[in-house]
Amino acid sequence: MSEFGLQNGLFCIIIQVIQRQDVSFFERVSVKLNIKDLLNSKRVSLSFEVFPPKENAQICGVLSAVKRLSEQQPDFMSVTYGAGGGTSTNTAQIADYIENKLNVTALAHLTCVSSTPNDIAAITGELSQKGVKNILALRGDLPSNMQNMPPRHYKYAAQLIRDLKKTNDFCIGGACYPEGHIENPNKEDDIAYLKEKVDAGCDFLITQLFFDNNVLYNFLYRLFQNNINVPVIAGIMPVTNIKSIRKMTKLSGAALTPKYKAMLDRFEHSPKALAQAGIAYAIEQVIDLISNGVKGIHIYTMNKPEIAESIIAGVSHIIRGEQNK
Ligand code: FAD
Repeated sequence: MSEFGLQNGLFCIIIQVIQRQDVSFFERVSVKLNIKDLLNSKRVSLSFEVFPPKENAQICGVLSAVKRLSEQQPDFMSVTYGAGGGTSTNTAQIADYIENKLNVTALAHLTCVSSTPNDIAAITGELSQKGVKNILALRGDLPSNMQNMPPRHYKYAAQLIRDLKKTNDFCIGGACYPEGHIENPNKEDDIAYLKEKVDAGCDFLITQLFFDNNVLYNFLYRLFQNNINVPVIAGIMPVTNIKSIRKMTKLSGAALTPKYKAMLDRFEHSPKALAQAGIAYAIEQVIDLISNGVKGIHIYTMNKPEIAESIIAGVSHIIRGEQNK
């Protein structure tokens, strides 16, 4: 076939596709981003975390929250894996929805502590087939029967990252802990293990929630001192009720600032006032972070679009303005 014939043939196929109104074709060919490339640009990135439902029957509610969140035009949305009570089986489905129906870059979380390499290969194969290019590779929380785990299971996130890098072309993120990981009392070791994890192939890091920005600045300085040079995205948890504050601080070990404690004392028994104060606190944190050069803001949305919307409204010119183009 001549070059013209070839081009003409290709053109006909495209026209046929248009005539068939094959929407999924166009959804799939939209530009998909590596988060690494996004973070290498000059502007501040905005992203959201969502989690899968506890029960399969609740999936529609989660998908509609995810859709509403996408209207804020985040740079990417991450989906947890078996965290926050969500089941791991829906992670790939929600990531697929984000990537291919909403046309937002998806970041699928993947934990390894309860998995064998074969389990991981099955999940990454599914993600790859759905066109999901970004994975947040995690160890996951230790199961209570850890001592009975078969030897083929992973022990640390670094091992998972090494395996993922060997066999796939994913852009890989990892978790980091500005106040140190709760299981590791030795902060120096914690940073050394983080370095090992980054050297295994992490393209970027997302932080655990924190309430004191100075803790993050100090952490970033320690990363610099230890030659850990990948981009760090700040995880912001807008805590809007007293029960979740107690749960989050217990799980993460994040310290409350005196300002935060005063806010809790004053509004503990006024849920609406506390919610408003929690959002204002998160907005203030985000403004301070961006003012001090932090380039990535990741909001733990708890699947509540209205909270993310309030925060974005408070920083709209800061994140969407001319200076961030
Ligand atoms: P690792 O990096 O493996 O570190 C775990 C612990 O082991 C640390 O104390 C570290 O210092 C230590 N360590 C590492 N390497 C070594 C070594 N070679 N020798 C000795 N000690 C070592 N959990 C979920 O279940 N699902 C999720 O979707 C999820 N998403 C998350 C997203 C973010 C941004 C964050 C910050 C956490 C998330 N988590 C999630 C929680 C996470 O799984 C837990 O915090 C878990 O306990 C640690 O995971 P990791 O990947 O950081 O582990």
